[in-house]
Amino acid sequence: MTAIDHLAAALEGHGEVKRDEVLSRHTTFGIGGPADIFVTVRDAAGLAYAVTTAQDAGVGVFVLGSGSNILVADKGIRGVVVDNRARREEADSSGTRYRVESGASFAAFARKMCRQGLDGLAWAVGIPGTLGGAVVYNAGAYGGCLADVLTRVRLQDHRDGDAWIEAAQLGLVYRGSVFTRGQFDGKTVLEAEVQLAPGDAAALLERAASYDAKRLTAQPRGRNAGSTFKNPPESPAWKLIDEVGMRGATRGDAAVSDKHCNFFVNYGNARAEDVAWLVTEAQRRVREQFGIELQREVAFVGDWS
Ligand SMILES: Cc1cc2nc3c(=O)[nH]c(=O)nc-3n(C[C@H](O)[C@H](O)[C@H](O)COP(=O)(O)OP(=O)(O)OC[C@H]3O[C@@H](n4cnc5c(N)ncnc54)[C@H](O)[C@@H]3O)c2cc1C
Repeated sequence: MTAIDHLAAALEGHGEVKRDEVLSRHTTFGIGGPADIFVTVRDAAGLAYAVTTAQDAGVGVFVLGSGSNILVADKGIRGVVVDNRARREEADSSGTRYRVESGASFAAFARKMCRQGLDGLAWAVGIPGTLGGAVVYNAGAYGGCLADVLTRVRLQDHRDGDAWIEAAQLGLVYRGSVFTRGQFDGKTVLEAEVQLAPGDAAALLERAASYDAKRLTAQPRGRNAGSTFKNPPESPAWKLIDEVGMRGATRGDAAVSDKHCNFFVNYGNARAEDVAWLVTEAQRRVREQFGIELQREVAFVGDWS
């Protein structure tokens, strides 16, 4: 038996284990090759167990949320992909502070809070992804971001085990954190705690509906991973991409959206390589024409060899 066979056997009973699961089924881009092991976990204990067991075996492990901010390589991901469906949530006695497992849908939770008349997350109703992914990127929109309401997170660390840490220790900035800067490699978000404020449900739902309408107008249909690049201080990324002539540019089935140039879209059977080519080309042209280095918001993950 190989190390992968041993590990798959050790994970059985702690989650649903699949071999060579194609990741295009699990990313909003609809792109990505197979994972050696794909294990679906349904609570924080299962998530911690899967990650720790892979780390103990010295096998690479990737925690997958909704796959809404990643471009997975055509060759897939070696080792274990943990499909996080841990979704339990619990309010404290005040009814305004919530502990939510990291596999919960951020948008669904945000909408539920609006319905319950709790203010602080109306801006998030259209953001695909899990709470875990939202922590990693300090997800935000329309002037709000998770850092505004996040109080602490429960982390699993291979060496230190399971502990709560304050949000202030996460270095949350515009679409970034200690995770995106590589300072928390090997740590997993098990739960997040948010503090909301009492508000008016009807007014919050109205605000949420106005954000839904804005998204429908501004964002393209088709499979994508949202904004490809962070907005540099000089100019919105879409504008730079437009000005270097890449609006609507295509490579295979991949395209730069002609509706919103910072969205790169899979119109059918695009390969990760096609998207990556367009990304690199946009960066090259913007660098040459404006001297600006576009930073990717979408993470390239997996086996790009
Ligand atoms: C149509 C569309 C619109 C979007 N609009 C917005 C927007 O308005 N604002 C915004 O901020 N983003 C937006 N996004 C991007 C995306 O939804 C967010 O970045 C989201 O927070 C990513 O969460 P995810 O669960 O999909 O993460 P994934 O893409 O699954 O993972 C992203 C990274 O986070 C890591 N990760 C995930 N969960 C954990 C965990 N529990 N512990 C440790 N690491 C973890 C993964 O390993 C990976 O490195 C949009 C995306 C789409 C497709």
